[in-house]
Amino acid sequence: MSEDTIFGKIIRREIPADIVYEDELCLAFRDVHPQAPTHVLVIPKKPIPKLAEAESADKELLGHLLLTLKTVAEQLGLAENGYRVVINTGTDGGQTVFHLHLHLLGGRSLQWPPG
Ligand code: AMP
Repeated sequence: MSEDTIFGKIIRREIPADIVYEDELCLAFRDVHPQAPTHVLVIPKKPIPKLAEAESADKELLGHLLLTLKTVAEQLGLAENGYRVVINTGTDGGQTVFHLHLHLLGGRSLQWPPG
C-alpha cells in the first residue's frame, strides 16, 4: 500500500473535486490549477505512486486509463482539435503528487517541447 495522497482523499470524497467521470477503476476530475482551458486528471483508484512503479499486472488498468481519457476528451469537446496527454514521473519528470495520474490538456494550441 502506497502512502496516502491528496488524490486518495479525493477518491474517498474526503476533499471536494470537480469530478467529470467515474467508474469502478478510475476517476477523472478538473485540475485545481489548470494549465489550459481544459485540464483534467485521470487517476486509477488503485494507489500506484507513479508510472515507474506500475507492474505488468497493471497492464489492463493502464489501458483503461488511456481509453477513459479518450472518452472524457470526446465528452469535453476536445476530439476535433486535439489535446495532449502527459504523465509526469518522479522528481525530474515534475511529478508533485505521488499517485499516478494522466493530465488531459486541451482547448488551446500547446507548444513543444515542454519546459
Ligand atoms: P504533477 O505535477 O504531474 O504531479 O501534477 C499534480 C497536479 O495535481 C497539478 O497539476 C496540481 O495542480 C493538481 N492538484 C493538486 N491538488 C489538487 C486538487 N486538490 N484537486 C485537483 N487538482 C489538484
